[in-house]
Amino acid sequence: MNSGPRNEQYDVIIIGAGLSGLAAGIRLAHFDRHVCILERHSRIGGLNSFFRRGPHLLDTGLHAMTNFASPGEKRAPLNRLLRQLRLPYDFLELRPQRYSTIRFPDVELKFTNEFEVFEAAVAEAFPKRHAEFRRLVDAILRFDAYSLFPERLSTRAVCAAHVGDPRLIDMILCPIMFYGNADEHDMDFALFCVLFRSVFLEGLSRPAGGMRPVLEQLAARFRECGGELITGCGVRSLEVRDGRIAAAALDSGARIETETVLSCAGYVETLALCAPAPPEARTWPRGRLSLVELIVGLDRPASELGFTPSTLFWSDNSALHYACPSGPVDRGGGVVCAAENFAGSHASPDTTPTVRLSSLANPEYWLGLAPEAYREAKGETLEEQMTVLERFVPGLRAHTVFTDLMTPRTIHRFTGHVNGALYGSPRKIRDGSTPVEGLFVCGTDQGFLGIVGSLLSGVSMANYRILQRA
Ligand SMILES: Cc1cc2nc3c(=O)[nH]c(=O)nc-3n(C[C@H](O)[C@H](O)[C@H](O)COP(=O)(O)OP(=O)(O)OC[C@H]3O[C@@H](n4cnc5c(N)ncnc54)[C@H](O)[C@@H]3O)c2cc1C
Repeated sequence: MNSGPRNEQYDVIIIGAGLSGLAAGIRLAHFDRHVCILERHSRIGGLNSFFRRGPHLLDTGLHAMTNFASPGEKRAPLNRLLRQLRLPYDFLELRPQRYSTIRFPDVELKFTNEFEVFEAAVAEAFPKRHAEFRRLVDAILRFDAYSLFPERLSTRAVCAAHVGDPRLIDMILCPIMFYGNADEHDMDFALFCVLFRSVFLEGLSRPAGGMRPVLEQLAARFRECGGELITGCGVRSLEVRDGRIAAAALDSGARIETETVLSCAGYVETLALCAPAPPEARTWPRGRLSLVELIVGLDRPASELGFTPSTLFWSDNSALHYACPSGPVDRGGGVVCAAENFAGSHASPDTTPTVRLSSLANPEYWLGLAPEAYREAKGETLEEQMTVLERFVPGLRAHTVFTDLMTPRTIHRFTGHVNGALYGSPRKIRDGSTPVEGLFVCGTDQGFLGIVGSLLSGVSMANYRILQRA
């Protein structure tokens, strides 16, 4: 059991040691704010943490990091982020992707961290659409996607106004939706632009040692600048007096006074902690998109079994179906990722080659099962997902060392996100505000997603909501 916070009063309390909470904490501590991060779980990292399975160290969420940039690209979002966190580029030990691919019936588009490769693939597979695709890219580049108050537009409508082939639109949308869309079928154009840039124009990579060293260094940086990070200590409720934050009550029974709380627990989840809770806690739309993720440890890298892309995004239908499935799992599309298929990656003595399969899953089904039925459903689904993965990694079973299956229930249990919703609520709050004065959100529900997105969110909310207002 931890000893709890050292003090009874802080300038800022941060709820959750997700990536955005950690980044916000570092930024505030740099500017001498007396800040405490409270994390309910024993491990930090939230959706992007790590765990042990016997002797194997596994990442909970990591496929690939978006926003790749080389150290010389000073204006790239990744380098700007590292400067704000005062962390050296080398601390991530990035391994760029070799190549990734989007596979639909009878057509495939490869992409790398050189955008020309993707453009050439589009030109070859859709020769009549190349100029249209270029015009769409220009529209994406012109759009002010990072604004805290962006214009809300339908991505499908904007894409259809530029590109005449719905299949090409769906192929472009496939990786983008899987890597960050909380909406079903369509998405907000501002978010699409952010993700298009971060996936296709900047690209994918992987920290060499997975998430554990990254998280440990973020936590160390925070503590070095005087921040307090307490794990195993959740915030049970937030005391609201005259419409403003007054104090936080902890699971341990302790009470801390503060006038400012920044939360990465999710918008609805955070409002529900407030006493009294604002009406939005009941009415705000909940996310419905979650996933099952199969992790398979292999006795050799997946490339030796014929799976060579870093990531594969696929759909068995020509029209992308990105929505909560009616059954437990959608087996008609998803993402496969092999950790060793990134340049310069190799299995170290502490890691085992892994391949992951992510498929959309129905949270109502998974959260509603009684314990025994849940265990059974997990066992059956694991077998079925192995069969799906064998399509892409032939001979998989003969080389399997271990398997693990994460469900919406796992995500719910370890992060508290309603419905185990991977990308939170479909309605984002770009400026981080809530109806309670002094209470702000960062991370998933602020609207910048993924590893780099969450870190950026934490930094920008700390700057905009707290440091610039002082
Ligand atoms: C299976 C999976 C695969 C993914 N793959 C990738 C990937 O390959 N690349 C990528 O860039 N992104 C990936 N992501 C997405 C990425 O992990 C998230 O976008 C990002 O980590 C979200 O960070 P966050 O700061 O919003 O907080 P979260 O990670 O949501 O963390 C919230 C934290 O708040 C804590 N908390 C909640 N309530 C309380 C409370 N009352 N008191 C104290 N603490 C509380 C939770 O325990 C949690 O630690 C993946 C996610 C998953 C689940």
